[in-house]
Amino acid sequence: MGILDIFGINVFNDDVMKERLPNDVYESLKHTIKEGVALDSHIAKTVAEAMKDWAIERGATHYSHWFQPMTGITAEKHDSFLDIKDGKPIMKFSGKGLIKGEPDASSFPSGGIRATFEARGYTAWGPSSYAFIKDGTLCIPTAYCSFDGKALDKKTPLLRSMEALNKQTLRILRLFGNDTAKRALATVGAEQEYFLIDRALYKQREDFYITGRTLFGARPPKGQELNDHYFGTIKPRVAAFMREVDEELWKLGVYAKTEHNETAPSQHELAPVFSTANIASDHNQLVMAVMKKVAKKQGLVCVFHEKPFKNVNGSGKHNNWSITTDTGLNLFEPGSSPSENAQFVLFLVAVIKAVDEYQDLLRLSVASAGNDHRLGGQEAPPAVISMFIGEDLTSVLEAFEKGTKVKAKNKRTMNLGVDLLPHFTADTTDRNRTSPFAFTGNKFEFRMVGSAFSISEPNIVLNTIVADTLSQFADELEKAKDFNVALNKLVARTIKNHKRIIFNGNNYSSKWKEEAKERGLLDLPSANVALCKFTDKKNVEVFERQGVFSEIEIRSRMEIMLENYCKTIHIEAATMIDMVKKQIYPAILTYVNKLLKNESLKAKIGIEIANESVVELIKRLSEINENLYKKCNELESNLRKCAVNEESSAEEKIECSNFYHDVVLALMEEIRALSDEAEEKTEKSMWPFPTYSDLLFSV
Ligand code: ADP
Ligand code: MG
Repeated sequence: MGILDIFGINVFNDDVMKERLPNDVYESLKHTIKEGVALDSHIAKTVAEAMKDWAIERGATHYSHWFQPMTGITAEKHDSFLDIKDGKPIMKFSGKGLIKGEPDASSFPSGGIRATFEARGYTAWGPSSYAFIKDGTLCIPTAYCSFDGKALDKKTPLLRSMEALNKQTLRILRLFGNDTAKRALATVGAEQEYFLIDRALYKQREDFYITGRTLFGARPPKGQELNDHYFGTIKPRVAAFMREVDEELWKLGVYAKTEHNETAPSQHELAPVFSTANIASDHNQLVMAVMKKVAKKQGLVCVFHEKPFKNVNGSGKHNNWSITTDTGLNLFEPGSSPSENAQFVLFLVAVIKAVDEYQDLLRLSVASAGNDHRLGGQEAPPAVISMFIGEDLTSVLEAFEKGTKVKAKNKRTMNLGVDLLPHFTADTTDRNRTSPFAFTGNKFEFRMVGSAFSISEPNIVLNTIVADTLSQFADELEKAKDFNVALNKLVARTIKNHKRIIFNGNNYSSKWKEEAKERGLLDLPSANVALCKFTDKKNVEVFERQGVFSEIEIRSRMEIMLENYCKTIHIEAATMIDMVKKQIYPAILTYVNKLLKNESLKAKIGIEIANESVVELIKRLSEINENLYKKCNELESNLRKCAVNEESSAEEKIECSNFYHDVVLALMEEIRALSDEAEEKTEKSMWPFPTYSDLLFSV
């Protein structure tokens, strides 16, 4: 079967709705979807019936509200369609069951919201996300809130931020005389990186299957230095995996498009065609879920951790973002008329201002214990936010700022809204992969997002801060007597005030770090430091102004993320101790004993110890092993000093996260270095688990 024959067959999409719903119900539902309003309860029963019949025909037996709690992944609670009527079994799915669910919230993180308010949460269907069938279950994508409407998930605030962006974008569009656009939507395409590892080998490593990354592992003789993997031929086992993933995703209506090898051995990437932010976010969750499932089936493991291997590139998720109207206009497409150009420049400088003013929010939206290992390595953007727009566009903006001539056009002062922009090519350095936030011709690419992240968080921030900037622009321009004069002034002023965020050079260089400091850009090197910025006054205010988060919601989110940071490192440290004491220490000991035995045997029969280096080896390994044990005990006692749970106050969580960063992580580094050195010196067959060479070249 071809792609088109299977595409979307497991989705209750527009075609299915049209075919299966009475005309008036279909029209009403369409209206709901288009306007983004709530589902009319009168039609819920009919829609639910139709959905159920369709799902049963496609083999489904259960239904589930499918939501995205603060764990960063999705949750589902399955109910079967089975019911009783007059003592007989029937298949039933009520309108109420479609609109609203009440999962027991007590096991999901709520950051204190649940404690202060209601124990239960509820889920509500947003019909703009189509229902779909996954593993025999009809899944209804829902938002998840507390009973007094506080967001307990990642979808609710994403929808709120999209609404804010819609509203403010339309205000600007009206100023440019655009009366046709009815909605402006954030569009997102998330490129997903991942590693594929042989499942049997993975299972032999406690660190891998408990924490998602390797806590030990000496550098393999061959890594990625030859760059022979990037875009290389895809091996048959990987190709089979990709084919099945694509097919599964197509059935779910996900536009999986590009599959290729990435930089590191065993690293790959999947890119979908972009869609509206909330759908893109749902779909990215499906991408990850399907990959995990297919990998398992094929004897593989799909690893999403940001840094599964030390000294080998980690994985990210490039978040491509733009704003598009319902009439199909991409607002970051420069256009070809003076008015389109002016509008483009205004939106562009809005993003520049927003990114500069809210560097901290963007940074913390991608902050996690896992991503800390990746950001700032020579493989991913540094933790300092800056923006790449290319040399050509930079000189255009400079000309606006100074009111001077633009190089390419040898004429008077450029006037926005009157003159045509000089032609600028989407700069070739758009392949400058080092920038955290790059303009790539008609969209922005935010490259700091970690591969395991939900893309909701960064997009909530992007939508909100750009909406807020646009609202300030609209306030100013709506009052203007002469629009073009006011526009030119506003653009020039904005560039002047915020151009420090623009950097077109190499973000990996150490010079940039210094320069960024001179420019006054924020450096938030680790997640514990970044996350505390969430509750800064200006940040709370921007979210409240745009109706995206209340202060309580922000506090709860900050606490959840800090708690997650602490627990992640705690689990890693505990795993480390376990592996050292039960596997690594005994292995080194066995090897040392073997060497000792050999040496003493030689002595016994009078063979001279010709090889001093063996003695050195015995000494060094013994020393390492002693130190390993000692350091593990030290780590153990430190772990006892600090424990966070939901009851801990925000201050305790902050303090704890700093302790984990400064003390626990540092000790873990020391332990790892010792073990890695021992691994290099120990007989391969005696090392207790697969090495980097085994893992990285396993598939
Ligand atoms: P690359 O970054 O590898 O050069 P592309 O530029 O083709 O690849 O696109 C990368 C991702 O950006 C894809 O997922 C694509 O769908 C997405 N994308 C393209 N246009 C837009 C847009 N207007 N809004 C959001 N995402 C977009
Ligand atoms: Mg890209």
